[in-house]
Amino acid sequence: MTIRPREQTENNKRQPMEDSSKISDIQQHRLKTVYEHLEISDDARKRLIQPKQTVQVSIPVRMDDGSLRIFDGWRVQYDDTRGPSKGGIRFHEDVTIEEVTALSFWMTIKCSVVDLPFGGAKGGICVDPKTLSRLELERLSRGYVRAIYDFIGPDRDIPAPDVNTNATIMGWMADEYGQIARRQVPAVITGKPLGLGGSQGRVAATGRGALQVLDIWAKRSEKSPQDLTVAVQGFGNAGYHFARLAHEAGYKIVAVSDSKGAIYSRDGLNPEPVWNHKHKTRELKGMVYCDASVCDEADFTELTNEELLELDVDVLVLAALENAVTKKNAEGIRSALILEIANGPVSPEADSILADRDIEILPDVLVNSGGVIVSYLEWVQNRSGDYWSEEIVETRLAQRLEREANACFQLAEDENVSMRIAAYMQGIGRIAEAIDHRETQKYFNGQSN
Ligand code: GLU
Repeated sequence: MTIRPREQTENNKRQPMEDSSKISDIQQHRLKTVYEHLEISDDARKRLIQPKQTVQVSIPVRMDDGSLRIFDGWRVQYDDTRGPSKGGIRFHEDVTIEEVTALSFWMTIKCSVVDLPFGGAKGGICVDPKTLSRLELERLSRGYVRAIYDFIGPDRDIPAPDVNTNATIMGWMADEYGQIARRQVPAVITGKPLGLGGSQGRVAATGRGALQVLDIWAKRSEKSPQDLTVAVQGFGNAGYHFARLAHEAGYKIVAVSDSKGAIYSRDGLNPEPVWNHKHKTRELKGMVYCDASVCDEADFTELTNEELLELDVDVLVLAALENAVTKKNAEGIRSALILEIANGPVSPEADSILADRDIEILPDVLVNSGGVIVSYLEWVQNRSGDYWSEEIVETRLAQRLEREANACFQLAEDENVSMRIAAYMQGIGRIAEAIDHRETQKYFNGQSN
């Protein structure tokens, strides 16, 4: 990695960005900011501007009432310089090609930040899965694999779960792939159920990894978990497992929210019964502590999602969707630290506002990498046929994150840049190096022998 000499940079001056909701603009802005600190070849810059391949499909699904519905879907393979592309599949009614492209770019950076031998990709289907029956969901999942079959594979592009997709869906997809291929190919998809070649530890991996990055930050800042209050926006798989493990580690979780609303308890809450309640009633609203059979003195106050974001806590965890904090609400944030578990939850405009207010951000491409790290471990197990205990998987996850997160913290300190810029420098530096090893620019410049 070639770091620009300090005097050539704008000395960590942040570039304000015009307000833009276009995710591709956000991505270009982030690259521009990183290039002020990192010198990479023209070849690499050009390669990183656009995805390598975008596949657009329409998926016909026979609905339970006999009608036919056609769903739009995409798979974007952004880059595969460092290995087969890797990334989840999202089912959401707001999915667009633009969003999937940005998410595939972030996967590219993420896999490289934690030094996995993978490039980045993402898939998405424009659907509200809650409106489908289980059988309709299965037909849609299998139909998607039939549509993208030629473009994926264990050495080519390896999907996984993302927003609104889970192990069951990955199991259907792996099965469909195997039926078409007429052989077992478990390494084509990760995040599968254990019985179909999934890995121990995959379900909680994103939350576990995020907690480890927070722990490293706390240790470096000489703070102890017991003294830190935490609010969690987003109570899906990653947000819940983070909250559960953080509570066990002694952090005080004072609030959690889902898309319908938030609950707050000044004395702190235990995420596990809250999760059980949510699964019984499908929402957090109306939560009474005794509902969750933990009858003690604690009381819940209901909050809106916006109110949760503005709580006076030490750590605000963003575990929902993109653009949760933008120029519109960044002034209202009162936490000292933001932990990004979702992909892209803080816009670049908000980044600048928060930095001016000395609010530190631990960025998505590092914080939520635990999921793809254990996906990598699953892929390795599938290919070798040697399956590991939960303890071994967790140790390997922890060792990798310890090494790569500390390298990011060190780079941020040495270069006097934000953790986001440091993580991008680490990720893009490695990709650029790989691009340069493959290309012939040096030959034309007379530098090669
Ligand atoms: N969807 C997850 C992410 O955004 C996991 C991807 C994977 O395991 O490939 O990181």
